[in-house]
Amino acid sequence: MAASFDFNQEDLERHTCRTWQEGDWIILQCTQCDFLRRMNWKTGALKIDQSGEPQIMHSAQHRGQKIALDVGSMN
Ligand SMILES: [Zn+2]
Repeated sequence: MAASFDFNQEDLERHTCRTWQEGDWIILQCTQCDFLRRMNWKTGALKIDQSGEPQIMHSAQHRGQKIALDVGSMN
């Protein structure tokens, strides 16, 4: 039990994604697994490129806006 104080409230593992923009798409890539998403900032459409580890919650920040990526609710 070392240095896990941020995670005491939930058992869920969480990953943070890095983001960048390509045209109309924001790319969200996890630095810890194969998780990769594309989000169209005009339409809000979300594409799954690689699912990564589905049991892990992913979140990201793009231009100061927090993006929650709930894997379970997407096709
Ligand atoms: Zn991940």
